[in-house]
Amino acid sequence: MEIEKTVVIGAGTMGNGITHVVAQSGFSVTMLDVSREALDRGMGIINKNLERMVSKEKITEQVMSETLGRITTATDASEAVKDADLVIEAVNENFELKKKIFRQLDEHAPSDCILASNTSSISITKLGAVTGRAGRVIGMHFFNPVPVMKLVEVVRGLDTLDEVNDIVVEMAKKLGKEPVPVNDFPGFVSNRVLMPMINEAIFCVHEGVGTPEHIDSVMKLGMAHPMGPLRLADFIGLDVCLDILNVLYEGFKDPKYRPCGNGIFILLLNPTLSTWKQC
Ligand code: NAD
Repeated sequence: MEIEKTVVIGAGTMGNGITHVVAQSGFSVTMLDVSREALDRGMGIINKNLERMVSKEKITEQVMSETLGRITTATDASEAVKDADLVIEAVNENFELKKKIFRQLDEHAPSDCILASNTSSISITKLGAVTGRAGRVIGMHFFNPVPVMKLVEVVRGLDTLDEVNDIVVEMAKKLGKEPVPVNDFPGFVSNRVLMPMINEAIFCVHEGVGTPEHIDSVMKLGMAHPMGPLRLADFIGLDVCLDILNVLYEGFKDPKYRPCGNGIFILLLNPTLSTWKQC
């Protein structure tokens, strides 16, 4: 099966990044969201990112205009997915919302269409189970910013077919990414390893082991991390980090994943890390 037409559900941070990369790699893609405003915002970001690439001479103006020419936008999912080969869902990290969307996609997409989710932590097996095509449901976990980051975790649910895994691995390569296959455990590999580190850094703030700047400096200077865990947590979104930690905590029923408590996890990060405040 050749992937020709891709539909990306969600025009937010990840959805517009995935749409950009799919279009720049030569594929027709439809970006879908609930409102025109969300789509306009997403297209504005794609435009800005392409312009930056032109100004840095990474791509030509012609590549930029061809890329934009391959993108269409839509608000009606049933119409948009009716001739899709691959749908990549990138809506908010909410299981009820994703379940609803997967049921809808299953109803309207062609029976051989692959349904992928960019979820950071939700079980692919559970998403597959709400459809009548669990074998064609898979995780394609891109990283932010999508046009820059090379990794795609390709997450196999219990029912995902070998053929589907192979097609998605090949597609990720065609998008210029490096697919890494993983199995469907809470947090997959990336967040299972990353989130406890971020959580521990927050415990260090909480217990006064060091200031946020010093904790980040230790990890940058001593472990050669390009960015400290607290700064990274802010890029990911503290609410997202907390949600993922709760998925690990509930998924494994192991206290080692307990999110740092007493409200300190919900921190406000102002432009400098020295202004972390407890809510
Ligand atoms: P976001 O909040 O930036 O965007 C979500 C988009 O989904 C919004 O534009 C919203 O309007 C849209 N949406 C909501 N309901 C919809 C519906 N029914 N139909 C169509 N669109 C709908 O979120 P994000 O940061 O892009 O995250 C999206 C997914 O990617 C989540 O599952 C998240 O866990 C995962 N993810 C995020 C990151 C990250 O760093 N932000 C990294 C990897 C994976």
